[in-house]
Amino acid sequence: MGGPVCLDFVNTLDDRPSVEQKELLVTYLDLVGFAEDAGILSEVQTKELMRRSTLNPDNGWRALRIAIEMREAMYAVFWAVIKKKPVPAAALHALSRNVQTAAEHFHLVPGQGHFEWRLDPATASLEAPLWPIARSAGELLASDELQYVRACASKTCEWLFLDTTKNHARRWCDMTKCGNRAKVRRFYTRNKEGTT
Ligand SMILES: [Zn+2]
Repeated sequence: MGGPVCLDFVNTLDDRPSVEQKELLVTYLDLVGFAEDAGILSEVQTKELMRRSTLNPDNGWRALRIAIEMREAMYAVFWAVIKKKPVPAAALHALSRNVQTAAEHFHLVPGQGHFEWRLDPATASLEAPLWPIARSAGELLASDELQYVRACASKTCEWLFLDTTKNHARRWCDMTKCGNRAKVRRFYTRNKEGTT
């Protein structure tokens, strides 16, 4: 999706509002695949994590479980923000812990015009994919952008995204995916009403 990685991560439980939710993170390799697609880990890192997880599957499952718990805490917090409801304290506390853990693995390095927080490239912990995601959530929650976090208006989708449009009136996660479907549906409803 290309938005903040934490929101894309929340969307890895697809079809969230439906009774048949689709879990996209079924194995540890799915988590590493997500990190690779999102560009938060280097190819060298993802290869090493895959290798280590096959050598030590229990640690892989453990990291996946922590990732999913973190994702659900993120969802609870962002959803409450979007719906302007009280943020569940337990979820915020859990997420805050994730962000703190993540912070231990970032180092300040010189960058272009300013310093950058970079993930320790030597880390081979199977939990490494979680850290840039946690960091992203921590940054977004503490930023002015938070007010532009939205849920897709499609009742079957409700994917989270950051509305970066100028007038902040974006309603769909993706115009081609959900926006068009909604437009088509409206068209058919109108036509049906027109004929009856
Ligand atoms: Zn959508």
